[in-house]
Amino acid sequence: MLWAILFFFGLAIGSFLNVVILRYDGEKFLFDAKALGGRSHCMHCGKTLRWFELVPVASFLAQRGRCRHCAARLSAQYPAVELLSALVFTFVPYALFGAVAGAAPIGAVNPALIVIAGLWIAVFELLLVMAAIDIRMGIIPDEINVILGVVGIALMIAVAGYMGTSLNQSFLGPYAAIFGAQGDILWNRAIAAAAAGAFFGVLIAATRGRGMGMGDLKLAIPLGIVFGWPDVGAVIIFSFVIGAAAGLFSVVRGAKTMKGSLPFGPFLAIGAAVMFFWGPAIFAWYFSLIK
Ligand SMILES: [Zn+2]
Repeated sequence: MLWAILFFFGLAIGSFLNVVILRYDGEKFLFDAKALGGRSHCMHCGKTLRWFELVPVASFLAQRGRCRHCAARLSAQYPAVELLSALVFTFVPYALFGAVAGAAPIGAVNPALIVIAGLWIAVFELLLVMAAIDIRMGIIPDEINVILGVVGIALMIAVAGYMGTSLNQSFLGPYAAIFGAQGDILWNRAIAAAAAGAFFGVLIAATRGRGMGMGDLKLAIPLGIVFGWPDVGAVIIFSFVIGAAAGLFSVVRGAKTMKGSLPFGPFLAIGAAVMFFWGPAIFAWYFSLIK
């Protein structure tokens, strides 16, 4: 029941995020009240949409992906963002305390853990907006990086309150100790943010800005605060592996030449999701190989 409520709530939030994404023009503030106000309308014919045309996912399916008035094709972004948002709202808390909640009523869950789950939901909803805007416009709004940094600091405080400042929560589990800097959470997050930013800085300088952009560098810093050290390194490695695979795939399909570059923001978001959901399993398996 809880998971169903979270799923439908996530759909509704995703519907709002679609408005944020589509009305962003790269100049006005991302959450500009004037840009976000006003009734939703078809981007093609301008007709104001009724409530039954705005039901997440269902309207898109019922109308077979077309506007009811002018039959223009609706962007697949609408159902994709709504569905991904619903999955974030359902599976992020499930991954964090699904086993606990399954065994006991939700009231028995440590309140700090609920705060931590809420902050991780915010992280992935922000990454979802970032990825959609990067795909659409090839830029990453500074607002998202700043908010992500603030959420990362709140997450650090919540984790410190839950586990103590000397115990950094890492998706590498006990293997994080190999990479050092696990003594103090503030120090750990500072190193992660600096290292992630410096890595992209060197990469941009070495490639003279082809490939990665400043937006990727600015995103890497709050990701460092959110994930800590060495987890942010793993996030970046995962995003490069997935990005290379996707790049190769689009070259093979003839969609892109080797020179054309894909926006990298979405791959950082996917890398973050892989680390969050499968990082512990991947690293347990990896270290079992080399032991
Ligand atoms: Zn229309």
